[in-house]
Amino acid sequence: GMARRQHRRHQTYQEGQDEQHLRQLTLIRDLQEAVSERQLWMAYQPKVDVRSGKVIQFEALMRWQHPTLGFIPPDEFISLAERSGNIRILSRWMIDSVCAQLHEWQHQGHHLSAAINLSAEDVMDVDLPELLLETLNHYGLEPHQLGLEVTESAVMQDADLAAQSLEQLNQAGLFIAVDDFGTGYSSLAQLKRLPVHELKIDKSFVLNLNTQENDLTIVRSTIELGHNLGLRLVAEGVENQASATLLGQLGCDYLQGYWIAKPMPAYQVVDWLNDFEPLELPFPKPLSEP
Ligand code: C2E
Ligand code: MG
Ligand code: MG
Ligand code: MG
Repeated sequence: GMARRQHRRHQTYQEGQDEQHLRQLTLIRDLQEAVSERQLWMAYQPKVDVRSGKVIQFEALMRWQHPTLGFIPPDEFISLAERSGNIRILSRWMIDSVCAQLHEWQHQGHHLSAAINLSAEDVMDVDLPELLLETLNHYGLEPHQLGLEVTESAVMQDADLAAQSLEQLNQAGLFIAVDDFGTGYSSLAQLKRLPVHELKIDKSFVLNLNTQENDLTIVRSTIELGHNLGLRLVAEGVENQASATLLGQLGCDYLQGYWIAKPMPAYQVVDWLNDFEPLELPFPKPLSEP
């Protein structure tokens, strides 16, 4: 009867919870050797300039191939690494891996730039600026070849410390973007204090741009706001030509998304670049240069 069904449903729920918990514990335990066991790798996704149609940068995105659980998405393991105190190990590996890759591409004649994603822990790490600059120097790279993507919430955990750290990196020539813009809770007053060059409009506003009136309004106002603050605008999650065209008309500066390319392993990047034909989008209305 009813009572029995409910009991069973409850058991199933509990089992689901236990399973989830066990998975998290396993992942946290195994994260510690993911670096040394070479289970991590970086995927690269291009950002394209709307005006020239050309690739301006690649975003580096972390991937984890777990030996028994398979592919683990970064949205799952990054937050576990943050909560279990392992994120700095991953970030240090990532910084070295991306710079080594840029060095290798450079050696092959491709002077590329990459953006890395930083966690709140990284932004609060007082040793980070020096580490980044030393690593760039070690691989013979220019500071402008490395961009940093930080989320609003990462920066807002300690806005003063973040401002100090980012200012140091900005002075050294690194470009800084606010990622997932619109989903956090930063005030414009706080944002204004940060040495930011770029706003990345979160993909949740971009994915259904063509059908959701609200999303269109948000994206249009964000582009206007960003430009008024002297910033470049990037839209992530561009999945079709209609969105790309619309974003171009709205004056968005850079596009990123599956319509252009999915994140790819490093060994595919040069071939992909050689095959890539510059986008031809309707030229946006002229803007005052930020
Ligand atoms: P993010 O930095 O906002 O990266 C954008 C995410 O959107 C990526 O997911 C990317 O693969 C995905 N994406 C790009 N284009 C499209 C599209 O057209 N449609 C859809 N549906 N998705 C698209 P991914 O690679 O799973 O990364 C998720 C998040 O994990 C990243 O969001 C970032 O916050 C975090 N992350 C990834 N790598 C690192 C890392 O090395 N360090 C840190 N701290 N966080 C990272
Ligand atoms: Mg990002
Ligand atoms: Mg983002
Ligand atoms: Mg995101």
